[in-house]
Amino acid sequence: MKRALFASLLVVLLWGFSEEAKGVTVKGIRNSSSEKYARVVIDLDGPVKFTQARLSNPDRLSFDLEDCILSKKIALPLLAKNSILKDINANQIDQKIVRVILNLREIENYKVFILKEPYRFVIDVFGKKEPRPLSDKEKQVKEFTEIKRVVIDPGHGGDDPGAIGPRRVYEKDVVLAIAKKLGEILKEKYNMEVIFTRDKDIFIPLEDRTAIANSKKADLFISIHANASRRRNARGIETYFLNWTTDEESNRVAARENAISYEKMKEIQKGDLQMILQDKARDYKNDESRDLAGGIQASLINNLKQDYKGIFDLGVKWALFYVLVGAEMPSVLIETSFISNREEEKRLSDNKYKEKIAEAIAGGINNYFESKKKIVKRITSDKI
Ligand SMILES: [Zn+2]
Repeated sequence: MKRALFASLLVVLLWGFSEEAKGVTVKGIRNSSSEKYARVVIDLDGPVKFTQARLSNPDRLSFDLEDCILSKKIALPLLAKNSILKDINANQIDQKIVRVILNLREIENYKVFILKEPYRFVIDVFGKKEPRPLSDKEKQVKEFTEIKRVVIDPGHGGDDPGAIGPRRVYEKDVVLAIAKKLGEILKEKYNMEVIFTRDKDIFIPLEDRTAIANSKKADLFISIHANASRRRNARGIETYFLNWTTDEESNRVAARENAISYEKMKEIQKGDLQMILQDKARDYKNDESRDLAGGIQASLINNLKQDYKGIFDLGVKWALFYVLVGAEMPSVLIETSFISNREEEKRLSDNKYKEKIAEAIAGGINNYFESKKKIVKRITSDKI
């Protein structure tokens, strides 16, 4: 009798464990938000199915994550200060479903997407738009008088060294140095406002970097990287914007920068990231990003060629970079040179070269703003 009880207890225990092992754990909930925008990231240890609803009285977004277990380590609710959100809460509503609730102040709409390796369930919430569109005169005044705000994003950092060169030069160090120089030049020479996603050797998740740019209502988002290839002789400079591609090399670069496998990279091409790119309801500034990438790439090649031999123009390219997904301003990712190439690694270790790169990127950014001013001026004067 005792043995039977023990056996059935064991079965219950094992059943309990295996049930638990089957579920996906909701490991954490993160929030970065402002008066016009919020990004909530839910960290998971596997894929989830979900249902979503927008409910009123009180106004809230509700997400039911299926076959999930809510970690008890998460401190809830998460309060959001000076935000379009009031707070974020989550509950295990039954054995299998975790319900996440975003209590809202005033919002326009929202978007959901999933990033992989590790799984992250991302909710972008957008505040109300300006009450009315700007008049031409107001556009002109804005374009000519407003100080431009640029978010500079040095890739990697902290535990993530990025690519490592044959002489053990780390991408995270090189790109931080370039980013700091770029920041100085934009501020001092071009009178722009600069915000860094990181200005020291720390790790910041990719999805948090775009969130910083959106929260700060930046005019541009510039992500700086160094390239790497298994082909040791690969060299050159290329500038990317966000778009879907079948190009193998571009996808390999994006897989590396997304810290996911090439196989996963091919998988996400078919997934909901593509849906985001095709979302016409939100303006993700694709044309402007391409123009910006073109301007920066041209400036890099023209300037560096004056002082260095063997500067290869690999051109403007596009791929699905996590760090650019959801950016509400023109955004690019620059692969400044190949750290995997001995000669380019040596150059990237040299301050003069890094300064030249920073100057050239700054020049490209300034040219971009100047060309936009010309367009606004032409359009407004055409109408007079
Ligand atoms: Zn990188």
